[in-house]
Amino acid sequence: MGIENVRKVKLGHYPTPLEKMENLTKMLGKGELFIKRDDSTGPAFGGNKARKLEYLIREAIDTGCTAVLTVGGTQTNHGRTTVGAAVKYGLKPILVLSGKDTGYLSGNLNLDAMMGADIYFVANPADTPRVIEDVCEKYAQQGDKVYVIPGGGSNPVGAVGYIMSIKEILDQMEEENLKIDHLVCTVGSMGTFGGMLLGAKYFNAPFDVIAVPVSPAPKGDKEKAVAEFANKVSETYGMGITISPEEVKIAYGPDDAPYSGEQYNKPDPITREAIITLAKSEAIFLDPTYTGKTFRAFMDLVKEGDWIKEGENALFLHTGGAMALWTKEHLDDMQDQLRANCTTTQL
Ligand SMILES: *Cc1c(COP(=O)(O)O)cnc(C)c1O
Repeated sequence: MGIENVRKVKLGHYPTPLEKMENLTKMLGKGELFIKRDDSTGPAFGGNKARKLEYLIREAIDTGCTAVLTVGGTQTNHGRTTVGAAVKYGLKPILVLSGKDTGYLSGNLNLDAMMGADIYFVANPADTPRVIEDVCEKYAQQGDKVYVIPGGGSNPVGAVGYIMSIKEILDQMEEENLKIDHLVCTVGSMGTFGGMLLGAKYFNAPFDVIAVPVSPAPKGDKEKAVAEFANKVSETYGMGITISPEEVKIAYGPDDAPYSGEQYNKPDPITREAIITLAKSEAIFLDPTYTGKTFRAFMDLVKEGDWIKEGENALFLHTGGAMALWTKEHLDDMQDQLRANCTTTQL
């Protein structure tokens, strides 16, 4: 079956806007800078997981499932979007989260709770596979059939969403007569980047796709993993293309201050500085775990001119996640920086 004809449900609003960042372009001024607003896909505040879930939820429904279970960290954006998708299609939403129940629901957990998710906290991540089995068994005994979605929705089915997003971008470029030479996105569980790499090759995009990792990784490993993932997807759908590790472009940043920060989801002031730059220039909000890191890299890549040359245009993919700004740990950590960025007057 052709990749264009894979069945899906409708989740969110497409095409998402592809806008020029006028002020940022003036500020960095080497070529035109654009942003693709996949932070506003919807549902449940959307983000990049919505495109994947259009295909995953279709499969859940087609296989007669009545509940959807997925996994992630306690603040998983993927979990929140999955709960939203399940609610919309009348499926029972179940989350298995690695971490502790702190007794305080903030950020994404606040939203998961409002949508009525069944939430299981797993203190020891090593227990997760067993917990998934037990939970599925428990729901089966109640007469439910559970569709299990892997972390980040990153399997071949989910990746179709980002393969097809390239077609959407190419259509927008044609309609608006845009020239784009580079696309910069985030790489976490790989569905987004892997899908876009395949889509760019399959649809002959005139731009390359560069990714920024969300946690430190030794150079080489990630490139290999992404190529392997993409090739599995290509094979699943008979796309007839392969990606070699040498074609996988990942921007790591300086050794002493990598774009990934010290670790996944750890608050860090350089990333926040990048978040504040976009907020101040374009009134668009990024997140501290994924897109803030990628946007810092995006600005560096434009300034350095190594991959993005003078006069070339670049597109930043906003994959969502801003609700992480309102988690307790990030709020606590950013108070000083916020105060320094504005004036407050108590009268
Ligand atoms: C999940 C996520 C990503 C990473 O996408 P993957 O497909 O997992 O690589 C990037 N940004 C945000 C906001 C996310 O929630």
